[in-house]
Amino acid sequence: MSQQALNLGIEDTSPRAEDGARVQVLLPLPLAGPLDYRVPDDLADRIYPGVVVEVPLSGRKTIGVVWPENPSGKATGKKLPIGKLKPVARIIDVPPFQKNLMRFVDWVSAYTLSSQGAVLRMCLSAPSAFGDIPVKRHYARLDTLPDGLRMTSAREAVMKVLSDGKPRMAPEVAELAGVSDGVVRGLADAGALAVLDISVDQPYPQPDTTLKGPTLSGEQSAAAEAIRGAVWEGGFKPFLLDGITGSGKTEVYFEGLAEALQEKGTQVLVLVPEIALTSQWLERFEARFGVEPVVWHSEIGQAERRRAWRAVASGDARVVVGARSALFLPFRKLAFITVDEEHDPSFKQEEGVMYHARDMAVVRAMQAGCPVVLASATPSLETQVNADEGKYQVLKLRERHGVAVLPEMKAVDMRAEPPESGTWLSPLTVRAIEETLAAGEQAMLFLNRRGYAPLTLCRTCGHRIECPSCSAWLVEHRFRQELQCHHCGHNEPIPEACPTCESKESLVACGPGVERLFEEVNHRFPNARTSVMTSDTMMSASQTAAVVKEIAGGHLDIVIGTQIVTKGYHFPNLTLVGVVDADLGLRGGDLRAGERTYQQLVQVAGRAGRAEKPGRVLLQSYEPEHPVVEALLSGDGDAFMAAEKEARSRYHMPPFGKLVALILSGPEMSDVLETGRMLAAKAPVEHGVDIVGPAPAPLARIRGQHRFRMLVHTKKAVKVQKLVRDWVLSVKPKPGVRIKVDIDPYSFM
Ligand code: ADP
Ligand code: ZN
Ligand code: ZN
Repeated sequence: MSQQALNLGIEDTSPRAEDGARVQVLLPLPLAGPLDYRVPDDLADRIYPGVVVEVPLSGRKTIGVVWPENPSGKATGKKLPIGKLKPVARIIDVPPFQKNLMRFVDWVSAYTLSSQGAVLRMCLSAPSAFGDIPVKRHYARLDTLPDGLRMTSAREAVMKVLSDGKPRMAPEVAELAGVSDGVVRGLADAGALAVLDISVDQPYPQPDTTLKGPTLSGEQSAAAEAIRGAVWEGGFKPFLLDGITGSGKTEVYFEGLAEALQEKGTQVLVLVPEIALTSQWLERFEARFGVEPVVWHSEIGQAERRRAWRAVASGDARVVVGARSALFLPFRKLAFITVDEEHDPSFKQEEGVMYHARDMAVVRAMQAGCPVVLASATPSLETQVNADEGKYQVLKLRERHGVAVLPEMKAVDMRAEPPESGTWLSPLTVRAIEETLAAGEQAMLFLNRRGYAPLTLCRTCGHRIECPSCSAWLVEHRFRQELQCHHCGHNEPIPEACPTCESKESLVACGPGVERLFEEVNHRFPNARTSVMTSDTMMSASQTAAVVKEIAGGHLDIVIGTQIVTKGYHFPNLTLVGVVDADLGLRGGDLRAGERTYQQLVQVAGRAGRAEKPGRVLLQSYEPEHPVVEALLSGDGDAFMAAEKEARSRYHMPPFGKLVALILSGPEMSDVLETGRMLAAKAPVEHGVDIVGPAPAPLARIRGQHRFRMLVHTKKAVKVQKLVRDWVLSVKPKPGVRIKVDIDPYSFM
């Protein structure tokens, strides 16, 4: 089928099931594949691939989706005779899955080596969407009244309230009419009012595509034109929108959205790294399109989830902005996808189905036959290589909008200008903050460490306080008066005496976290209005939005934050950014440490000087000659990324080669290790395939589970999924040991 036909192909012409026929139903469970069911006579003409059904499964009822025949035609094991199959129980009243979504599920499953059911589960993550939709009883006036209706003044008042024809609920009518609810119901019983049970899920308001965006600059409109053209034409087309911070990337892809929404019933998806942080984005969207978009992420409640899921499936939801899980929504007619801040590490899902949402968004666009824009000021190396190879069309924005210019960058050599003992800000940084405050401007300090101190140590015996179930130190959180494990969530009160030697007043906090920095800043600048932004202090989207408003409105002078302050905000009066520890991300050095640190620091620097006032950035570093710091100072990110690319290519590292991680875990260390040894013994020996491990993971224990890692490194041409699947299946793990496969790993912990 051509891309064009796929794009329009929302009609389904698949053959209907025959009487008594068998169908495959995929269940949202980690099974080997779909299960066979019998089609009962009365449902025969309504069952075809994509239809959502309820089926019996070991004494329970489960929701599943009628799945297309295995495309490879291979029989999946022995088939039960038709007479032995359980019948499909009923059809769920939701629109059937589109073919492109089913192909996407199969694709993600094959690529990540997760079961199809585990992927389907992500598509069905709105359980209440499949039950009865709650309704509210409304009453409306009828054109003609029944003969002989007895009228009273109370009844007259009710009829008057309802005279506009609008259906209302009894309490509302009663209040407006100044009568009791009973009068309304009495009139309905007498046949004088229409009774309407209206779904509590109201339709979403439709975006207004007649509103105009700002007048675009030359390079902005060239980029916007390219995107509009691709959207208008339809069909798969990937773009890299590579523009410096503040260059108007959002305005540019909004134009793509506007174009996509011109056509009737089309839908667009915008993926953002952290939906809780998008308050400013949502405001801009509303200003541009007149309505709020549909928001999708893991924290929305059941009712909103049901409403959104059903509206996406019916096509009523036109614009969805969401976290990575929004990729698995059952769009009816997807016409355009944008992945904003495509380099962001949070697009990689590290639990369950381990997938990278940016990569899967490109696949989703390919299956749906629509354009996709990957936007970033610091594109990932993977995306840059795709662009180099001509797979993605590159759209460049080289200038900040209006008079804004990129901030001036300076390194603070911490060896030459060290902070006083027990403090973390160099005298140079302190002076810069003073100047900024004196000018009535705002400063931001960035330190990617939550809590007060990353380590608590006993001065007497040297004991370090560790998590009881992880091989990790507990982090002191002074605001909350507790020690926390950042891996399993364990917390305990800060002890008064050392747990080992019982010395009192012997425990000391080592190293800084944002809370400790806050203490220092408050001490140095007692009159400044200072606030800390971390995921601890901003638990909800509305809390975040409130802080963001305060900063933007000039009600705060100094903001201290972790990586969450780096993401996309626009604060016009913010002119100084201080990076407290520019070397932090470089320690521990995994494959992407340099790239990630570079991206993060460019993003945080990008918060400075976004409006008329020029900004400056200070990078506190003990190693200012490091290539990452040098690249930031010289502004020559291209040269830095070219060097990174060269190094990766030389060692056949992704994307020039492939990596797959195996994470083995279990309650007994010896069993985990033994399973690793068995895998090593059976490791495939092949040209271009290199397997290392088992080795204890850097985080050797999480939640009481011992962890070992193995790493498969192959040349690009190797079909790594097949190789790993066959290999892992050849070994029977020891009892209690789990083997997790991570294709394209981002975490090496
Ligand atoms: P980016 O996404 O590249 O960081 P934004 O789209 O957020 O950049 O743009 C930065 C700021 O400049 C925003 O406040 C945006 O509204 C404004 N802006 C960008 N382009 C224009 C334009 N052509 N006309 C008016 N304002 C613009
Ligand atoms: Zn001690
Ligand atoms: Zn823990």
